Amino acid sequence: MSEQTRGSHPIDGLLPADVEGFDSLVELALDMRWSWSHVTDEVWRQLDPVLWELTHHPCDVLQTVSREKIQNVLADPAFRNKIDAMVQSKKQAAEAQAWFQQHYPDAPLTCVAYFSMEFMLSEALPIYSGGLGNVAGDQLKAASDLGIPVVGVGLLYQQGYFRQVIDQDGAQQALYPYNDPGQLPITPLRKPDGEWLRLEVALPGYSVWLRAWQVQVGRVKLYLLDSNDAANYPAHRGITSELYGGGPELRLQQEMVLGIGGWRLLRALDLDPEVCHLNEGHAAFAVLERARNFMEETGQSFEVALAVTRAGNLFTTHTAVDAGFDRFAPALIEQYLSGYARKLGITLHDLMALGRQNPDDPSESFNMAYLAIRGSGAVNGVSRLHGQVSRHLFAPLFPHWPAEEVPIGHVTNGVHMPTWDSEEADNLWTEACGKDRWLGTLETLEQDMRRVSDTRLWQFRIAASQSFVTYVRERLSRQLASSGASAEAVAEAGHLFDPNVLTLGFARRFAAYKRPNLLLHDPERLLRLLANPQRPVQLIMAGKAHPSDLAGQALIRQWTQFIRRPEVRRHVIFLSDYNMLLSESLVQGVDVWINTPRRPWEACGTSGMKVLVNGGLNLSELDGWWAEAYSPEVGWALGDGQEHDHDPAWDAIEAEALYDLLENEVIPEFYARDEQGIPSAWVNRMRESMARLTPRFCANHSVCEYTDQHYIPAASAYLARAADKGAIGVDMVNWQHALDQKWTALRFGEVKLETDGEQHVFEIQMYLDDLDPDAVRVELYANGANGAAPERVEMKRVRQLVGAINGYAYRAGVSASRPASDYTARLIPYRDDVAVPLEDAHILWQR
Ligand SMILES: *Cc1c(COP(=O)(O)O)cnc(C)c1O
Repeated sequence: MSEQTRGSHPIDGLLPADVEGFDSLVELALDMRWSWSHVTDEVWRQLDPVLWELTHHPCDVLQTVSREKIQNVLADPAFRNKIDAMVQSKKQAAEAQAWFQQHYPDAPLTCVAYFSMEFMLSEALPIYSGGLGNVAGDQLKAASDLGIPVVGVGLLYQQGYFRQVIDQDGAQQALYPYNDPGQLPITPLRKPDGEWLRLEVALPGYSVWLRAWQVQVGRVKLYLLDSNDAANYPAHRGITSELYGGGPELRLQQEMVLGIGGWRLLRALDLDPEVCHLNEGHAAFAVLERARNFMEETGQSFEVALAVTRAGNLFTTHTAVDAGFDRFAPALIEQYLSGYARKLGITLHDLMALGRQNPDDPSESFNMAYLAIRGSGAVNGVSRLHGQVSRHLFAPLFPHWPAEEVPIGHVTNGVHMPTWDSEEADNLWTEACGKDRWLGTLETLEQDMRRVSDTRLWQFRIAASQSFVTYVRERLSRQLASSGASAEAVAEAGHLFDPNVLTLGFARRFAAYKRPNLLLHDPERLLRLLANPQRPVQLIMAGKAHPSDLAGQALIRQWTQFIRRPEVRRHVIFLSDYNMLLSESLVQGVDVWINTPRRPWEACGTSGMKVLVNGGLNLSELDGWWAEAYSPEVGWALGDGQEHDHDPAWDAIEAEALYDLLENEVIPEFYARDEQGIPSAWVNRMRESMARLTPRFCANHSVCEYTDQHYIPAASAYLARAADKGAIGVDMVNWQHALDQKWTALRFGEVKLETDGEQHVFEIQMYLDDLDPDAVRVELYANGANGAAPERVEMKRVRQLVGAINGYAYRAGVSASRPASDYTARLIPYRDDVAVPLEDAHILWQR
């Protein structure tokens, strides 16, 4: 099936087809470009200003307003011209030569399939929980901006992630409102003959039918699958009902639907992605289905098919602790995947081995991240520190390899600035850096931003504070009214907070490792800081705890109880139901964003990046992205850059340090004003943060990095291996079999060392059984001194040993500045264009 068009959406039928201009409105409403480009805002505002402010949901607005209203506005020629121009400029944007087309005119890459369990694009499509979905959504948007050929693959949840209310007692209650597909910005994916595209995935004893949907995200498409098809067995209709709900069995079903169903969907659409990007291990079954598909097309074995296709798979891990990986009990895998293993032509044991550290341990559970690693040609963490942490986490898969060489790099996340900037920030940046600032190379941003005056910057900040206070008052009043608070309390909420007061923000998942109660360590000291009449401080908070995380919910209660104290109430507000709409307002309004994770558990963190473009400053633990972003000119750091695990004594030290920082540095700097009332040191810090960090931590930057370092090389590598029905894959598998068979017979012989002042020259004898000497390489290895990278020097094969069969002498010289005893020889697999040790982890040390 090629060139399918979108199916119809219920709004298509709202008005007779001959009402001119209506189809343009529908087209604008169904392109989620409105979630970052605000040019169409005025259209929706004009149709229904109240609803628009509440939901920012164009489809909802279009479906709700009266037919008459729509006909009236469409009858106005000026309005018609405006929307025609918008449709026109959307078309131009879709066809323009963007960064990708300019940089890679002859790219081997035509399609990247980006798999993720969640996508956070807008509150109008609530299929996300938090950070992971944020990264996925922001990367899709940046790919659209830059013209990178990406398609997203995910699940359409009937209820999504839970919604939070705070009850009268200050406790969290979980709600699951229904996502009516008819009101979402999605359309059914139909075949050219109009039939709804459906896919079948086998579950034990039964097949489940999946319906396919399409979301337009600027130039990019996101495909979603759901199982709520009337043809399904009732239990299966609910597979895609909740995100991160239910137990392991439901999770496994969802992951099969996402990975296996997702790849089938792409093939049903006639898409043949060179690159498959797994955003976290949830979608790792896609590597199996991709290999199965290659088997079907070429007749190769599973082993060859995996060797070929893995070159085109990229795995991004987001977890900083071993307990964070999805694992399934062997019995569950057996129940669900025995039939699938038969289709792959492998035994269940072999399939299990892909998800195990020790394939022969029948009690070991099946780890989705291990499967993703075994099925990928490259692996990355999401910040520099997280790359390092991941190399330790995955070290067991690479026995005898030094941790530094565990093949996991990093691409630090970034956020999609046009999504998170306020209108005022957009204006300021446009003045300073031009309209196209987030559309490619970011080279001039830093200098351009440095030219903005103190006055301009500070006026921008106070305008932001003003809108923020208005927003907070309204939202809190509604929240109180809906939870049955007294009329006085609701009225009081309309006067809380002050735009001239320093605003601290803390909003995130209430999980123990994020230490959301660190600020509450000494409540009286916190209160003294907040209530200082000369230099008052206001604190805005939000966050959800997973419905099964009772400890997290207790942390929320600790805060709500603190806030109930009459002397606290004016200074701290907890807004319920932390979601994308709320988050946008928070990051646009706060002066300082506080983050207190327990290092190194925050793999990256993204919320702090969202304040950058808006002139907010970060005060954060040196963890995740902040460990690489922080310098004293741009914000404040907490912690000593070391890991202290779960140590209450250390938590206490950090809490005190946090109060000290606020008391001695942050608050005084904010209130130190010049004769104009401008805090010039503060404004300098803002400018440095905006100028230096925004270009580094935007999704534009990370998506370019993914393209340059991963997508393009992965596409080339995959295409090379796939050529001639996978001929290179066949050779690779033969090479690996030879290594497997002969490795234990390989050994080192004599070692000779000569030192001639400048150089140590090593000569080493090597006995290779009957292995082709080109299948391996000998190296000298020395640990990196003082934190430097390890030293690896290839040894040259200088002659064959006449006294042995297939024995060789290898030679190399190294600088004599280090003792010769620092160096050890080692034998490792070698083959052109094969990633060692990722694809083959054999290693033999001389000692
Ligand atoms: C940005 C964002 C997140 C991720 O925040 P971190 O705590 O930095 O990981 C989660 N939820 C929402 C609603 C967000 O906007």
